[in-house]
Amino acid sequence: MRINADRMHESLRELAQIGATPGGGVTRLALSREDRVARDLLRRWMEAARLRVRIDDFGNMTGRRAGTESGPAVVMASHIDSVRQGGCYDGAYGVLAALEVMRTLNDLGVTTTRPLELVNWTNEEGVRFEPAMLASGGVAGAFTPDYIYDRTDRDGIRFGDALDAIGYRGERSDRPGPIAAYLELHIEQGPVLEDAGHPVGIVEGIVGISWGEVVVEGHADHAGPSPMPLRRDALVAAARLIAGVDEIARTVEGAVGTVGRIAAEPNVINTIPGKVTMSVDFRHADHATLDTLFGSLERLGREVAAASGVTVRTQRFWTSEPTPFAAHVVEMVQAASDELGLSTRRVWSGAGHDAKYMQGVAPSAMIFARSVNGLSHCEQEFSTPEDLEAGANVLLRAALRLAGIEGERTTHKRG
Ligand SMILES: [Zn+2]
Repeated sequence: MRINADRMHESLRELAQIGATPGGGVTRLALSREDRVARDLLRRWMEAARLRVRIDDFGNMTGRRAGTESGPAVVMASHIDSVRQGGCYDGAYGVLAALEVMRTLNDLGVTTTRPLELVNWTNEEGVRFEPAMLASGGVAGAFTPDYIYDRTDRDGIRFGDALDAIGYRGERSDRPGPIAAYLELHIEQGPVLEDAGHPVGIVEGIVGISWGEVVVEGHADHAGPSPMPLRRDALVAAARLIAGVDEIARTVEGAVGTVGRIAAEPNVINTIPGKVTMSVDFRHADHATLDTLFGSLERLGREVAAASGVTVRTQRFWTSEPTPFAAHVVEMVQAASDELGLSTRRVWSGAGHDAKYMQGVAPSAMIFARSVNGLSHCEQEFSTPEDLEAGANVLLRAALRLAGIEGERTTHKRG
């Protein structure tokens, strides 16, 4: 049993025209006019695939295909909102592959035991309304409805008002679920699969993220009359710390560390920098390792302070816990890939996805399709049609394993 790849690619092309940018990408911000047009199209497609469509109080769209049992559903989900000048595959691929799974099951006359649901989550990207994954977080109970409705965009427009304006505020009783198992197919958005030569990744979880701020204080002084041995240059000390973050992450298997933002004061050509404030982003699959990474940075901070005569304050202010997926759902994805003869690799997602919240609600897992050059959140984002097809076939088979097959039309000639 395989999906109809041509039909999926055609739908991807059609959806990508909504909010298309001159550079070949899309700008389809959550609850924008473009999002509404895309939602209307998706709704028509879902209805044409004979799914029963419902909209919940956060605008999440669910299309249900009945099983012989009426209980919890196997959910396949992603999002069709995008970042500004984003690519055509982030999110849209997961939604349209799930739609293609439904269409394929219709073609083949397959009846599943459990119902299947396709979900389009509202505001996954968090570009228009922060934070990201707002609506799946709402369904998981991480945010209250009031919190969600009161988020505002940069023009001061509330989420709740934007939702009403596009006509997509539904009922709380129409939220997705109850969920037996949750699957999210997505492009990788990184270079690991391409580097290792695998079309598909079996995602074991979403890494933990920990953010900190480092403040280095030295002494601002004239760049001319201050001899080198007498200086307390905050930026030179910060440079050692930046290199240290990189080095610390390199010594720990599976860790990444980034200093992405830095401000030097007074930031003037002929003054020795007196103060530097910089950000630190560490990620790893294991919470204890995040503690170790920050511990190493604090130790380095003390060493640099002692050696350079500056003060270093490190403050860790936000942590998103690592989310390991459900082992049996991960194994279903692996079995589905093996059945297709695909070469795969186990990976952890370095980026957040709605599956993070869903894992708290139901056993979940993700499937990654290889990204060319690992590019994402840009117009150059691309995955080959073959890899997209492979990922969608894994989704189809994993969903069937989780939902169970009751029967199919025997008259149909299968390829
Ligand atoms: Zn995405």
